[in-house]
Amino acid sequence: MNYLELNNKRLPIPSFFQVYNFGGGNGDKDREIVYAELTGDTPALVNYHYINNKFPHLFRSSLFNNVSSYNSVGDLYNFIRTRLIEKGEIYSGYKSSEFDFNTKVFLLDSGAFNIIKFLAYDVGYDILKFNERIVEEVISYYDFANSLKFDMVVCFDMGGKYTEKDGEKSNEMLNKFLSQIDSEEFNNRLLKITAKYLKEHPDYYPKILAAVHGETPAKYKENTRHILELEEQYGVQFGGFALGGIASYKQVDSSWYDDIDFSKIGKRDFIATVTPARACKIVRELVGNRPIHALGCGGYNNIPLNYYCGATSFDTASPVRRVGDGNLASTKIVFDPTPSRESFSKYFIGGINSDGTLYSGFPKYIKLNEVPDKMNLCGCPACKKAENVYNIKKLYSMKENDTEANYYSRQLIGLHAVYQHRKLCELISRYNSMNDFSSEYENKFTLGLKYIYNNL
Ligand SMILES: [Zn+2]
Repeated sequence: MNYLELNNKRLPIPSFFQVYNFGGGNGDKDREIVYAELTGDTPALVNYHYINNKFPHLFRSSLFNNVSSYNSVGDLYNFIRTRLIEKGEIYSGYKSSEFDFNTKVFLLDSGAFNIIKFLAYDVGYDILKFNERIVEEVISYYDFANSLKFDMVVCFDMGGKYTEKDGEKSNEMLNKFLSQIDSEEFNNRLLKITAKYLKEHPDYYPKILAAVHGETPAKYKENTRHILELEEQYGVQFGGFALGGIASYKQVDSSWYDDIDFSKIGKRDFIATVTPARACKIVRELVGNRPIHALGCGGYNNIPLNYYCGATSFDTASPVRRVGDGNLASTKIVFDPTPSRESFSKYFIGGINSDGTLYSGFPKYIKLNEVPDKMNLCGCPACKKAENVYNIKKLYSMKENDTEANYYSRQLIGLHAVYQHRKLCELISRYNSMNDFSSEYENKFTLGLKYIYNNL
């Protein structure tokens, strides 16, 4: 297996990053930290906006109050985990083991859009004042990543199109303000600030990943070239590239995928794999042998194409997010396998079996009640703890009287899914090409991926 050498850690190529959203919500997000040993040294992506209490938001945790006093982000999460366990956010039937977050590779992403919104509000939507403040904020973001010894940090950038959340549409001041910002010009300005910062900080600890954007494949190429020119101009080298704006095919220009004929393989399972694969390929061809992280693109079906098209890593929050669907009513009928309209936590099936073989059908998330009690578990640390599907359902059903038992079952489900993404990375790293991988593990899933690969 190939590795990316970081300061004192090694990142396997390819790597799946688990997304730690503690600080951006409660419940499952806390428990993901508490049961961290179940995903071991799987790398993690953390959102600056959530873990930095200088920005007001709904789920701000006081555990981040003295965030800058830690020597490393690993120490910070060791502290948080201890505190959450002391608070009793752990199932009484579970015996917690020692865990050191310093074994993980950590990537910091800015969550810049939320920060930009806050700054805009804070300066009374005055664009001139905003332009001054943003420089200070970008610098303090990089300083923060350095002082906590993050291994990698994504360039502070606005992202492409933003998705309007509740209340934003009606915020006229904000919308008027945002309409004055040309995101392409703005992101390029942020890249320049970053290049200058890097030049002034030759001993900077994290690898800074330059953010790549572009509405169409042609613009993506152009933006990558622009970053390479900027490196020459400033005499610096970024630690790699972070590919943005390509995670959702629904939000990209259809020119990314509309030349692919999906009729032979089925559109639903494959359409989301094309844009990230193409973006990885574009950037890989221009940047040579340098790290490429595909932001938000680590969905299971995407992983092989990401890798064979040039990505060295990727992330997604979805494995653990799928457990969030489980409501109280569902916990009362979890032993009834009849398909139900109730909202259940979803279990990842498919993927790699305990004997190392690949599941013959399509990998997918199904409602917990529909998982057969007799189904063999995959042998990952979470599955070993669970022992069998019945035990997971039993814990899940206990919600009304023992919330922690229910949370624990949800972590067993979510962290199993995380581990499956990691196992797939380990498996594909042994094969040199999409064709080699798919001939060794030939099924509808790998044949579909091969078809896309050969038509990109
Ligand atoms: Zn498992």
